[in-house]
Amino acid sequence: MASIVLENVTKTYSNDYCAVKDLNLAVNDGEFMVLVGPSGCGKTTVLRMVAGLEDISSGNLLMGDRLVNDLEPKDRDMAMVFQSYALYPHMTVAENIGFALRMKKLPKQQVRKRVEAAAEILGLTGLLDAKPKQLSGGQRQRVAMGRAIVREPSAFLMDEPLSNLDAKLRVKMRAEVKRIQAQLGVSTIYVTHDQMEAMTMGDRVAVLRDGLLQQCDTPQNLYDNPVSQFVAAFIGSPAMNLYEASLLDGARALRLGSQVLELPESVRISRPSLVRYGGRRITVGIRPNDLRVATQSDGFTFTAQVVLLEALGAEVLVHFTVDATAAKIEGAVEDDDEILIGGGEGVARVEPDLPVHVGERLVLSPDFEHLHFFDPTTGLAVG
Ligand code: ATP
Repeated sequence: MASIVLENVTKTYSNDYCAVKDLNLAVNDGEFMVLVGPSGCGKTTVLRMVAGLEDISSGNLLMGDRLVNDLEPKDRDMAMVFQSYALYPHMTVAENIGFALRMKKLPKQQVRKRVEAAAEILGLTGLLDAKPKQLSGGQRQRVAMGRAIVREPSAFLMDEPLSNLDAKLRVKMRAEVKRIQAQLGVSTIYVTHDQMEAMTMGDRVAVLRDGLLQQCDTPQNLYDNPVSQFVAAFIGSPAMNLYEASLLDGARALRLGSQVLELPESVRISRPSLVRYGGRRITVGIRPNDLRVATQSDGFTFTAQVVLLEALGAEVLVHFTVDATAAKIEGAVEDDDEILIGGGEGVARVEPDLPVHVGERLVLSPDFEHLHFFDPTTGLAVG
C-alpha cells in the first residue's frame, strides 16, 4: 500500500485548455479519497494523470516517496474501475475476474485461489460459472470490482463506477464498495459528481471547481465548515438556503424583511470577522436542517410563506419564500447593530406530523449557532 501525493500538479491539454490548476492533494495510505465537483471540473483528468493515462504538464506525482510522473501505467500497480464495466461477454465470471492474472502468466492454481477469494469478498461465489449476460447490473459491477481486487494493487482508481446502476442499487453498492475498500485497506481515489455519494463514501472529500481545489476535508467538516459559498451550496441536500443580506455596524441582529432577529452574543463571539462587514453586503446561509417551526418561546424567528410541501415519509420539505422586497433594505434601519437579510426562496426540513399548509405564513426559527456567512464578492466564508 502507499500514499498518493500530488504536488502543484497542473494539466494543460494540447489545445491550451488548463483542466487542472496547481493541485496539491495527499491521499493517505489506505484512505478513501473522493474527488467531487460539477461536470468539467477536472476530476477525470486528475484520475487519469494518477493512472498514467495522461501526462502531467507540471508538478509531481508521488507514490510513497517515489516520483512516478514518468512511470508507465502498467508499472504503477494501480487498478482502475470505470463507469462501463467492459466485461468480456464470452468469458465466465471467474475468467473475467482472473483475466489480468492469466495475462501475467500466474500459475492456474494461484489464479483460482485469488479469484475465489475476491468472489468471496464480493458475494459472487455462486456465480463464478455464469456469463455476464446472466448477471444483474449490480453483479456485473461487482465482477468489475473483482478484476481490480485480484490484482492486489497498491491503489484503486474509480471513475463513477456506480453511475450505470439504478438509484436503489447505487445506494446499496455505495455501502459495499466502501466496505470492501475498508476491508482491503487499499488507498482509493474515487471520482463522482454526486455529492451524496461523495459524502457517504469518502474518508475525505476533495471538492473541485474549474480545475481548482476548493476544499479537501472530512464529509462532516465540509458540511459544517464550508470554506466558500460554492462548497456550501454544493455539499448537502437539499442545498443550503442563501440570502443576499446587509450587515450594519456590529452584529446584534438579523433583519429578514421587516423582521428583526436578535443575534445571541455567542454568534458574534464565534465569528469575530463579522463586525468587519459592518455597513456592507454579506451572504447568509441557513441549511434546511437548521430551520424548525418556531415555538412561542423562540426569540430568533422569521415568518415565511409556504409555497410547496414535499412529503418524504420520515420528514416534510417545506418550500417557502420570504419577503423579497426586504432584499434592498441596506442602510434603511437606524439601528447600527443589525444584519439585514434580503428575501428569497428557501427550504426547511420539518417533522411529518406538523400541521403545515401551502399558502399559510409560518414562523421559522433558524439554529443561530449554525448560520453561515459569506463574502458576496469572493464567496469565501466569513468566520
Ligand atoms: P465529467 O464529470 O463531465 O466527467 P470531469 O470533472 O471529469 O467532468 P474532465 O473530464 O477531467 O472533467 O475534463 C475537464 C476539462 O478538460 C473539461 O472542460 C474537458 O472538456 C477538458 N478536456 C478533457 N479532456 C480533454 C482533451 N483530451 N483535450 C482538451 N480538453 C479536454
